[in-house]
Amino acid sequence: MAKIQSQGSWGLPAHSPKRTFSLSQVQNQVDLVKGDFALPVGLGRSYGDVGLNTGHTVVNSRDANHFLSFDRETGILKCQAGVTLAEIQRTFIPQGFALIATPGTAQVSVGGAIANDVHGKNHHRVSSFGAHLKEFTLLRTSGEVLVCSPSNNSEMFEATIGGLGLTGFILDATFTLKKVNSAHLIQDTIHFDNLAEFLRVSKDSESSHEYSVAWVDTSKRKFGRGFLMRANMADDGDFGMPPAKAIELPMLPFGVVNKYSNAILAGAYRLSNSRHNSETKVDYQKYFYPLDAIAYWNHAYGPKGFYQYQFVVPHESAEAAINEILKQVALSGNQSFLSVLKTLGGQKPAGLMSFTRPGVTVALEFQNRGIETLELFSRLDKILTEANGALNLSKDARMPKALFEQSYPRFQELEALRDPGISSGLSRRLMGF
Ligand SMILES: Cc1cc2nc3c(=O)[nH]c(=O)nc-3n(C[C@H](O)[C@H](O)[C@H](O)COP(=O)(O)OP(=O)(O)OC[C@H]3O[C@@H](n4cnc5c(N)ncnc54)[C@H](O)[C@@H]3O)c2cc1C
Repeated sequence: MAKIQSQGSWGLPAHSPKRTFSLSQVQNQVDLVKGDFALPVGLGRSYGDVGLNTGHTVVNSRDANHFLSFDRETGILKCQAGVTLAEIQRTFIPQGFALIATPGTAQVSVGGAIANDVHGKNHHRVSSFGAHLKEFTLLRTSGEVLVCSPSNNSEMFEATIGGLGLTGFILDATFTLKKVNSAHLIQDTIHFDNLAEFLRVSKDSESSHEYSVAWVDTSKRKFGRGFLMRANMADDGDFGMPPAKAIELPMLPFGVVNKYSNAILAGAYRLSNSRHNSETKVDYQKYFYPLDAIAYWNHAYGPKGFYQYQFVVPHESAEAAINEILKQVALSGNQSFLSVLKTLGGQKPAGLMSFTRPGVTVALEFQNRGIETLELFSRLDKILTEANGALNLSKDARMPKALFEQSYPRFQELEALRDPGISSGLSRRLMGF
């Protein structure tokens, strides 16, 4: 049976492009992609159709995997677009440098991190990946090569950050790493009984802790309770690195994630974290990328795959809207085990289509149970629309066009700057090209 991950998206079942080229091939001979819509792709860690191009051409950046230069005075790194965040952390943390903004998996390419303007557990302090970019090189399907920065081709720079791969092929990027004095963090865990308490604890932690992320219960009787894991980088000179190898989960002919397993896992997860109320030293892999310890954990959902529903709502409507959404989830019987809460900072988004904006974000994950799951999402969309919220495009496979247009009002600016030879499942579905 095919692995979901090999089809080009992390959440969805099989999709197949008509043809695939490598980024180096296209860099040497751009005419290869002429006559069809092409799409640059990285490691396929997006959950929806943003990185899918069924029936068309895909250009995979994985062979563009070289570091090009590094300045240890400034921490400025230049690398090709197919280098992964895992490779950057493994190479540079032992030398005392780390990524400033990093998502919940390191199995992401630099090109993918820019195109979805990914954010991490410290968005409230440092904004998103795009905010730390100095420059990148963009190849258009016309053969034109543009060097983009805040002062050079600045419109294209802003459109490409969070630009969903639609402005061209990012060949390389230059960005800043920060100095660290450990491969570890000092973490503590605070339990909360409801969202009002989460919001208070999260706000209090913003000045004392660089990183924070919470798990929230979505079960019928306990929804809204959870715990916040907050942390700072350790300063102890301990560069002992975590093991690189992950356990591999094979594809299962049926999903093992259901409401019974969710309830057991949620209880166990809460219990395992309740022991850690005092400060604990954890390695960076465990804190930043807990799911990377199990390669292909998405296989637990079975061959029909799963959906992630990640939304952000402004602070003023956050408590009421999130409570209502969790209530609807609980009533539907579609429990989500991986349910993550984060507060986003108030910085200006780095890209014109960036997901991040001031507010609270929640990521919920559901096994694909067909129409039942989609009907639940329609009910959640209504709450989100009224609360002026937005769904994360890198996680989406089904949002209605009206919600997209309301929550990404600058999409026409992207349309004006897009590369006419590029298109994706998501762009055809939501933008009509
Ligand atoms: C376990 C897990 C946890 C996650 N946690 C977070 C999180 O905390 N925060 C967050 O923001 N995201 C998170 N994500 C989502 C992930 O970070 C993004 O979807 C990321 O963009 C995936 O990168 P990729 O290399 O796999 O790119 P793909 O998924 O292959 O492609 C993503 C987009 O990038 C474009 N692209 C790829 N390469 C290039 C290139 N060379 N030039 C131009 N465009 C390109 C593609 O066209 C597509 O639009 C998580 C994903 C997983 C699986």
